Amino acid sequence: MGRILIYVVLITAAGSVAVWVAEQPGEVRLTWQGYLLESSVSMLFVLVIVCAVLLAIAYEVLNFIFYSPRLIHTIRRNRSRERGYRSLTRGMVAVAAGDVKAAKRAVRATEALHVEPPLRLLLTAQAAQLEGDEIAARESFQAMLADPESEFLGLRGLLVQSLRKGDKVTALALARRAFEINPRAEWVLTNLIDLETIAGNWPDAEQSVIAAQRAKRIKPENARRRRALLLYQRAQAAFDQTDEKTARDLAMRAINLRADFMPAVVFAAKLLAKVGHLKRARKLIMHAWQTAPHPDLADTLVQISEPLTPLARIKVLEPLMSLRPGDLEGHLVLASALLDASLWGAAREHLGQASRGMSDQRLYRLMARLEEGENNDEGAARQWLLKASRAPSEPIWKCRVCGEIANNWGIQCSSCEAVDSLEWGTANSGDSVDRRQELAFVKWTKSTLENVIPNRPTPRMNLSQKSE
Ligand SMILES: [Zn+2]
Repeated sequence: MGRILIYVVLITAAGSVAVWVAEQPGEVRLTWQGYLLESSVSMLFVLVIVCAVLLAIAYEVLNFIFYSPRLIHTIRRNRSRERGYRSLTRGMVAVAAGDVKAAKRAVRATEALHVEPPLRLLLTAQAAQLEGDEIAARESFQAMLADPESEFLGLRGLLVQSLRKGDKVTALALARRAFEINPRAEWVLTNLIDLETIAGNWPDAEQSVIAAQRAKRIKPENARRRRALLLYQRAQAAFDQTDEKTARDLAMRAINLRADFMPAVVFAAKLLAKVGHLKRARKLIMHAWQTAPHPDLADTLVQISEPLTPLARIKVLEPLMSLRPGDLEGHLVLASALLDASLWGAAREHLGQASRGMSDQRLYRLMARLEEGENNDEGAARQWLLKASRAPSEPIWKCRVCGEIANNWGIQCSSCEAVDSLEWGTANSGDSVDRRQELAFVKWTKSTLENVIPNRPTPRMNLSQKSE
């Protein structure tokens, strides 16, 4: 309503001005190059307005002629970009589906179209990797390093390539560079922790663990586990440099983070015993035994308590049994010590108890010793040893990544080089066929060993009859 009113007022004003101008007396006379132009003022007024309108039209036409190539170019580029992204999407899908031909076709299409270089390079690299052309892939990843937007992605590609080649030194340098760009990315932190650990840079590795913990990229229990491992490695390094006090302190810090970390417990207990802290050393072993009984813990307990008579050794080991009543490891350790002391009856009792659970070769070897020691029955002993050879193997260090068996604990698997992957357990665990055989064997053992449990009138077995 208001606008209409303004127009009405404006038109009325313009009309009034035009009438006023037309009514004005006077004339315009223009002399130029010998020509004379005479006109009324109102005519001149109309002429000026017509000229202004014509100029405006001419400006618009020229403007269109001047800018149209650019406009056409923009339209073309937008279309090209649109097609480029469609090709890119098709290429990514082809890579995900493992279709090399389609991926390469998409790469060629994106090269001619408008696609942001980082994305085009990424597709080129992935298609090359799919085809197995690692050199072309590396070139694309390296080209990505030049652009800050794609540098991080390029570093990841190169890092994966280095790890695949087993070039840990280059991989570490790439991981450190990636850490500077994004210190919170999970792949950066996990790789950095492992690579610093493998390189033996224990303090740097620990800093990476702390960074990962702060960024919530590692579970708290995994962080504790890895820090314990690194502290233990530092403790050993200090020990190698004959700095036993530092070694002891570091080992204790490792145990504070992970009380059942057997290698650290054994190491710390021996160092503590060396300076006379026998009680503390024993406490560490007992504590670790409670959650993870390992024969090396029992061995260390005996070692730090030496010199011992066979009877005294039994006294040292007995508390282990009360910590985990009915546990196989405890029974085996005590049975062995009792056999050393020629306490046949008690040894037989522990072996009988051990046979009630899941037992292994060690039980049968101890049975052989019992038969030989108590009854001097070499035939029976041989039978037990034969059974031992068929029994499930005793627990061993096994890589949870590749399944490689190791005699001793180590920071890295000798086969797949995974860090902290060795776990104590039976070699056959996880194999269902072996497991079934194992269970069948245990069933047989239980029925056979019923004879060795005390308070039975037949302390001596006739194995050749019972076993077959
Ligand atoms: Zn392995």
